[in-house]
Order: sequence, then structure tokens, then C-alpha cells
Amino acid sequence: MRGETEFHHLLDTLPAGAYTCDADGLITYFNEHALELWGRAPKLNDPIDRFCGSFRLLAADGTAIPHDQCWMARALKTRREYDGEIVIERPDGERRTVLAHVNPIRDGSGEVLGAVNVLVDITDRKHAEDIVKTADRSKNEFLAILAHELRNPLAPIRNAVQILNREGALAPESQWAVSAIERQVRQMARLIDDLVDVARITSNRLELRKERVDLAAVLRSAVETSSMLLKAGGQEFTVALPEESIYLDADPVRLAQAVSNLLSNAAKYTEHGGRIWLIAERRGGEAVITVRDTGVGISPAMLSHIFEMFTRGEQSQVRTLGGLGIGLTLVKRLVEMHGGTVAAESAGQDMGSTFVIRLPAAESSPGQPPTADGSLPSGASSLRVLIVDDNRDAADSLAMLLRITGNEIRTTYDGLEALQVASDFRPEVVLLDIGLPKIDGHEVAQRLRREAWGQRICLIAVTGWSDESDRARSRAAGFDHHLVKPLDTSHLAKLLDSVERSARS
Ligand code: ADP
Repeated sequence: MRGETEFHHLLDTLPAGAYTCDADGLITYFNEHALELWGRAPKLNDPIDRFCGSFRLLAADGTAIPHDQCWMARALKTRREYDGEIVIERPDGERRTVLAHVNPIRDGSGEVLGAVNVLVDITDRKHAEDIVKTADRSKNEFLAILAHELRNPLAPIRNAVQILNREGALAPESQWAVSAIERQVRQMARLIDDLVDVARITSNRLELRKERVDLAAVLRSAVETSSMLLKAGGQEFTVALPEESIYLDADPVRLAQAVSNLLSNAAKYTEHGGRIWLIAERRGGEAVITVRDTGVGISPAMLSHIFEMFTRGEQSQVRTLGGLGIGLTLVKRLVEMHGGTVAAESAGQDMGSTFVIRLPAAESSPGQPPTADGSLPSGASSLRVLIVDDNRDAADSLAMLLRITGNEIRTTYDGLEALQVASDFRPEVVLLDIGLPKIDGHEVAQRLRREAWGQRICLIAVTGWSDESDRARSRAAGFDHHLVKPLDTSHLAKLLDSVERSARS
């Protein structure tokens, strides 16, 4: 048949495997590329090789697919086109992944005479994708470990600065040096926190702790977090809040983090004397938060991918205050996790920028006023505290700090020694690092809890790991609290204060 010969000729010229079957699934033709893919020559018009010329067929997950369920067989049965990925195994055991596209062949009256299958070999592409995926996974693991390791040295630096601050009457140069270290360490802690969050986000381990919150309180906390940058930036900063409270079901810490990232950017990318606005309003069922500035603006090319990971502007055009290009990625993910959206607008370079967050608003008020116990901790306590950390600087500097505030301190650098010291010293509080030599912090906690005198100790885990699963592990090991490095010493002071009050009452 002339038409058929021409058709096969056409298939011969394709840069892909191609073969045809008749209506019964008997192979009527295959081209050279199909032969190469299969690694064998199926018998034409023979029931022994129905539907497909490959030796064995597998799905992408490796499960075997019988020939009478292959795409060709399905297309002939349903008389419809069919396509999808499939793995061909050749007689020599080599596997190739192909995209198969099957189309029924019809005569003039629409009767199905058979089908043609075109096979595109995507093995190399799949292989490249796997390499990229593995590399991405390794990168995320590396980021998580890097952030964790970078956190460790921060704690002793912070403690040392606080100790210097307490010295009082420092020479002006020393005072300046101390406050410079303090500022830079805080900045570094922020960058590391961002790194930790981005590692969590890329592995879907970021969790929200939602509650009914007043948006104004969240925005106040965001402003507070960014206040250093806002002050240093020297812009005129205006906050406009609605008269009526707007309530949201949100994680107040994470939402404040998102808004604070926008405020910090506005401060970073707006010149001295420029203006920055933070505006919150209710529009229908939505809370709308706008951060607007009169700064360097964003070019249209940049605007389209500004929320992507590691996107950063031309650093030469701005006062470089450093950044990893993940702040906006975090904003977007955090807002989306709250069921909201964030959008960026700018008329271009030097035209200022506007970021708008929209979130679903909750209907009613929170019901319960927030509880506060009123009295502020004095920052002083007189507890017996055992500090266990194999980072000697971290342990010693924290010891010095807690000694200054009136506590009796013992320090040890490994888990076994910690148990011995605890049995003599009978501490009321143990600050316990988790990653310790010999026996780790979880084991130390469990063993302490087994002692009669260990039941009432306040056990505090001090660690760089802060996921919910890490917190659950420390709870299970018998810890009362889980603090994340670098330790927030004012938080620790509050905690010790409450331990002391309940111990003495
Ligand atoms: P980073 O600020 O750490 O570089 P971000 O993800 O927060 O990372 O921001 C990405 C980029 O978007 C910045 O490098 C900057 O070029 C641009 N950008 C963000 N906010 C603003 C703003 N308010 N004005 C101008 N450019 C901005």
C-alpha cells in the first residue's frame, strides 16, 4: 500500500523510536531507533510479540508492567491516544526511560486500524534530574549543618559581651568596641536564623504555632525587631494602624518575622532622609499590610523573580548591608503558610517599592486577654546551677554570667563527668548541651531522672536544634525546657527567676 509505505518512510526519518501495531496489537512496523531502544528485533505480525517490542516493561517506580497493559495496548483498547513515561528493559538488562506517545490510526470512516507509538528516550535527562535533586538535597543538608555549627560560637561571644557590659566604667573606645561586637553578633544571629529557616522551608519542616492574635501586636513586635536598622537608616518612619483591632489566626512570631523582613529591607534599600510607611487596614474579609518606601526601587526584570531563593539586587547600587537573598523567600513562604499572598510593586529604579501582604482576617476578638504575671524578673537568682557543654568557652562564659547574677555554679565538659558532679553538687537547675562526648545530653537527662534526687531538678536542654521533633525528643528524655543557641540571656534570667520562685514557695 503506497500510503502505508510513505507513512513508514516518514517514521524512518524521526529522531525517535517509532512502531505501529494493527488493531489486534500485532507489530506491523518499527524503525531503527526503536530497534536500538529495545535492543532486539521483535517478530512482525506475530502474536509472540504483541503490543510492544521491548523485552520487559517497567513503571517509573520499578514495578513490572505486562505487555497487554502497556500504553499501546491501552490505546488500542480505549481507541484513544495515550502517553506517559515507561521504562524499557532490554535483553542485556540495560534500562532506558522513554516518553511514549500512542495515537490510534483510523481509516476514512473513523474505524481504528491500529496505532502508532513514538518513543522519546529521556534516560539522560532523568539522570541529570537525579543528579540535580541529589545535589539540592546535599546542599540543604549542608545548609542545615552549617547554620547549626555557626550558632555554637555565637553564644560565648554574646556572654562575653554581657560580662564586659557589666564591668561598668569602660574606657570610651572599649565601650564602643563592646557595642560594635554586640551589634554585629546580633546581625550574624539573624543571618544564621534565616539560614536555619530556609533549610527548614526547603525540607518542609517549618511549623506554625497558630493562635488568635491582634495584628497590631504582631506589627509592634515586627517594628521592634527592625528598630535598629530603621534607626540606623535615618528615614522618616510612619505607622498607620486601623482604629478597630484586626484579629488573625496566625503564628505571631512567624508573621512578625515576615513583616520585619520587609521593614528591614525598606530600611536597607532606602537612602537617609527617605520615607518608609507601615500601613495595616481591613478590606472586606482580609487584613492588608503594606510596607512602602521611597528607596532605590526594583527594576521590572528583578521584580518578576524577587521572591525566588538567593535572588539579590545589584549590590553596587545600594548601601551594602549584606544579605543572603532569602529574606523575601521566607516572607513569601510564611505568608502562604498563613493562607495569604504577598506582592511587590515598583515603578522602577529610584522609584521606591511597595510590598503588600494579604491575609484572611478572623471574625471575632480573642476572647481571653493575654495573661501576664505582672512582676518583672530581677535578673538575679541564687540557684545551684550545673552547666554542661563541651564548648568550654560557651560553658565558662555562661558560668561567669550566672555567677555575677548571684547563682552558685559548677561547670563540666562531658556527660559522664556531669553525672558525677550532679550527684555531689545536687543542682536545682542543669543547663545541658545535647551533643556531648561520651554520653549525650538525652542520656544524661534520662540517668538524672532515674535518681531520687534527680526528680525535682529543672532540666534545661541547650541546643542548636530547634525543630518540633528535637523538642519532642528532649521532652521524652525528661527535660523541662528546650532552649536554642545562642541563648537569649534575658529569657534564661526569666526562666531561672520562675524556677527560684517555685522552689522557694
Ligand atoms: P537580601 O536583602 O538579603 O539581599 P531579600 O530576599 O530580602 O534578600 O531581597 C532580595 C533582593 O530584593 C534584595 O537584594 C534587593 O535587591 C531587593 N529588594 C528587597 N526589598 C527591597 C526594597 N524595599 N527596595 C528595593 N529593593 C529591594
